[in-house]
Amino acid sequence: MNKTWHISLPSRYVPEEDHTYRVIVDIKLKEEQREAFTTQHAKVQSYQTLSFVGTVMAHRGKRGGFGYAGGGQCQDQIARIYARPEVQKLVELWQRWHLNDLRPDCECMQAEQVLTTEGLMLVKEARKRGLLNYELAKNVTCPKRGYRFGREWLVEIIPDDALELIVKFLDHMAETYKKGAH
Ligand SMILES: [Zn+2]
Repeated sequence: MNKTWHISLPSRYVPEEDHTYRVIVDIKLKEEQREAFTTQHAKVQSYQTLSFVGTVMAHRGKRGGFGYAGGGQCQDQIARIYARPEVQKLVELWQRWHLNDLRPDCECMQAEQVLTTEGLMLVKEARKRGLLNYELAKNVTCPKRGYRFGREWLVEIIPDDALELIVKFLDHMAETYKKGAH
């Protein structure tokens, strides 16, 4: 399935920063037709991939014209601007599935330890906290297959039931936050 969503979040004044923000999130679901290995070391011939990109517009104070204030992988900033649960959920999906076909780590590796800038921790934990990088983790090895971290890009397959919920949620978000609706 190929699909795109355009989510245009309403203006939000953040008193602590004395800035008003407006955010656009574009999401793409794409079916890739190519042979690849999954994070569970299975060979697949096609898979679905999700990608997210944001654009943050802002101005100082409560009134004014918006100017470009950031973009790309700005999900942390978006999570700070909008406390509402559905935006938090959108950011969670972003963290969880963005570029799910560019995983350097396999599933069995998650319980291995890695020395990060914040100390020794499980790969799983380091990944969640965004501390994984090739230099730190290149010697981490899969206990089952001997696969070494970052040797290939693995695909984390989005389970069908999860994908169905994601599509439903994004449909709802795109419908609720249409351009010009606020
Ligand atoms: Zn493995």
